[in-house]
Amino acid sequence: MRSIHRLFAGVLACALTVQLLHAEGLPELGDVASNELSLATERKIGQQIMDEIRWREPSYLDDPDVENYLNQLGERLVAMSDDPGMGFQFFAINDLSINAFAMPGGFIGVHVGLLLAVQTESELAGVLAHEVSHVTQRHIARQIFQSKKLSMASMVAMGLSLLAARSSPQGAMAAISTTQAGAIAAQLAYSRDFEREADRLGFDILRRAGYDVRGMSGFFARLQQSTRQYENNATAYLRTHPLSGERMSDMQNREQPVAYRQVADSQDFQLVRARVRALQGRPSDAVREFETFLRDRKYSSEAGTRYGLAVAFARNRDWAAAEQELAAVRRLKVSSAMVDRQLAEIKTGRGEKEAGLTLYREAMVRYPRNLAVLYGYGNTLIGDRQFAAALKFADDQLQIYPLDVHFYKFRADSYAGLGRRSQHHLALAELTALKGQTAGAIEQLQLAQQAGDANFYEMSMIDGRLREMKKRQIEEMKERRN
Ligand SMILES: [Zn+2]
Repeated sequence: MRSIHRLFAGVLACALTVQLLHAEGLPELGDVASNELSLATERKIGQQIMDEIRWREPSYLDDPDVENYLNQLGERLVAMSDDPGMGFQFFAINDLSINAFAMPGGFIGVHVGLLLAVQTESELAGVLAHEVSHVTQRHIARQIFQSKKLSMASMVAMGLSLLAARSSPQGAMAAISTTQAGAIAAQLAYSRDFEREADRLGFDILRRAGYDVRGMSGFFARLQQSTRQYENNATAYLRTHPLSGERMSDMQNREQPVAYRQVADSQDFQLVRARVRALQGRPSDAVREFETFLRDRKYSSEAGTRYGLAVAFARNRDWAAAEQELAAVRRLKVSSAMVDRQLAEIKTGRGEKEAGLTLYREAMVRYPRNLAVLYGYGNTLIGDRQFAAALKFADDQLQIYPLDVHFYKFRADSYAGLGRRSQHHLALAELTALKGQTAGAIEQLQLAQQAGDANFYEMSMIDGRLREMKKRQIEEMKERRN
């Protein structure tokens, strides 16, 4: 599994890029090197790869708590970058190898292994600030166009075979020989100039955002020294971001004039690390692992460890034990949306739906923009068959997050529960279109037309959307043919 993801992390991003570039109707391969990639095109490519990962890649970690944390940390860094308005998205990959990767257009993937391997939040911030800089400097696009070691054609072939076998990633990887994989991986290493630039700009971001500037070099040094300890887990990142002695001394020279100051880790950093660990393996094993940590006092944060145990208990559906641990976390004066949301989920799990909904409502007042809390509330309303309330909630949230698939899902489920068939299919059509599946959206719109319960106004809206989607489909087919 690990080798798949290590390859996936770097290769899929670039291989697909070339394939999709071709699909965009850009010039033939021979001319590509001389062409600049527009930012809008880069963004479109990145979005398509992101859709592949989010909706079809099994190792994508679909956990709103973790994603929310990464985006909060990421936004704080991006705000201090040279291009704060670029619009980044951070997400987690459930893979224990140590890696982080940037895709075209500002999509940044973080392996769970990296979250577990860093010792401070500043180290994590250092790695992410470096990746953010690769994006703002548009290194990925430039790297692809400058590549000479590997022919464009073989990267396209690679991308195609990955695409063809995306439903079974293991099969796809088995089809690719290790020599090819090695060649591609070597190809994907950023050039020395790009690394130097990302180091320099990443350092500036880290300093301006108020993190410990020694985070980056400290993490790299440890990574390099302990490659044996981590076995192959450390090589993925080092392979794509080669660490030379020169880079290391550049980093240290930059840090020298900055006075040392202790930067405390955030509570959520401790909680997220415990959470991703508690999500690994079998629930009963996770429970045992965290119980051992607590018994032996083997932890840097008691609150984080107790929260991790609560998550493991909740996975094991041991609601009473989970609630008890969360109460202990709260006694340690921890206030976090993650703790509140977990408690609401546990109450709901125990069958105390009203108590759960009340906790969600209180959390929404305290953390109004926390998507994990919002999704949890919507799911609980649907689970409790409160369809009218769920529909109102979904519509309100869609005013704020018009492109969020989850809220369309709540709308679709609410309409299904209310017996409104055409509106149910219309919501499913919007959801499917947002996932980048135009044909599926057309199918849903046709079902909405045929449902027979739409009024005149709703019908003309469905007809209008259907015309738009068919037009989009024709455009996409044209792009693919070119
Ligand atoms: Zn790099």
